[in-house]
Amino acid sequence: MHRTSTAPDTLHRPAHFELSSRVGSLYEVAPDIAGLRQLLVNVYFIGEPGSNEWTLVDAGLRGSTEPIVREAERRFGTNAKPRNILLTHGHFDHVGALKSLARYWGADVYAHSLELPYLTGRSSYPPPDPTVGGGAVAWMAALYPKRPIDLSGFVRPLPHDGSVPGLPEWRWLHTPGHSPGHVSFFRERDRALIAGDAFVTTRQESLSAVIAQTPELNGPPAYFTPDWESARASVKHLASLNPEVVATGHGIPMRGERMRQELHELASNFEAIAKPTRGRYVREPALAGVNGVFSVPPAGPIKTILIGAGAAMLVGAVLAVALRDRE
Ligand SMILES: [Zn+2]
Ligand SMILES: [Zn+2]
Repeated sequence: MHRTSTAPDTLHRPAHFELSSRVGSLYEVAPDIAGLRQLLVNVYFIGEPGSNEWTLVDAGLRGSTEPIVREAERRFGTNAKPRNILLTHGHFDHVGALKSLARYWGADVYAHSLELPYLTGRSSYPPPDPTVGGGAVAWMAALYPKRPIDLSGFVRPLPHDGSVPGLPEWRWLHTPGHSPGHVSFFRERDRALIAGDAFVTTRQESLSAVIAQTPELNGPPAYFTPDWESARASVKHLASLNPEVVATGHGIPMRGERMRQELHELASNFEAIAKPTRGRYVREPALAGVNGVFSVPPAGPIKTILIGAGAAMLVGAVLAVALRDRE
């Protein structure tokens, strides 16, 4: 069985290039990085097991507070509290338990300054585009919460110099596109990359892929990505780091040469692999600044496709009635 030289293998690790993950239990990304998957989204714990100096990255869906606290205490000890909570970005599936966790632990929360408008009630994200990606999870995006959350008083901006509070070996990289202030976290020593949703290791738009968690490098979840040119540049930037292990907001961690090849392939063929051929943000991005979104392209294609989907459902219903009458 292939084992990497750096990890002490405290957890069972499969021979394949991806690492395993099961819903609701911790899985190892590196000796001091553990992931926890709640339904369809991951959070990460950075810190040596048993240490009282650790950091949480992202805060999952609503209702994740108890499992996150439980796994944190299992890994770091009873009453363990993180020094900080870091956010890759503020989409609802990454901040669901944030307020209750920040309150419970009294921890500081950091996000990129361009992400703060969506975290402090000042702006909504651009509307999701459920027509892209072609999967059930994408269509469900139409039902996702759209109102901005308000975490004023809990969230502060990451330092401008790229340093990460509480994690001297790490630096944050601005990787916009999926959201205006999206960041990734990178550690040079072992080339560990926590990439949020800048790219992901599952086809997040598809319900069957999300359930199967088959590891494959994909662009950012398409229905929530309002700026494809920035998203492409971000993937290119991350690929140029030649990471050894990547842990993303969705999907299971991947490592090694095959992952790097897939990442470079994604970066150089981003248009073909990741960018939808049509959709609200394909020709024109949503524009955002320090106060949030100020320009959004019109929703024409959504209406067209909703009419198309309505017509398809009507045809299906007529067919069903016709077939029933023949019996
Ligand atoms: Zn996201
Ligand atoms: Zn996400």
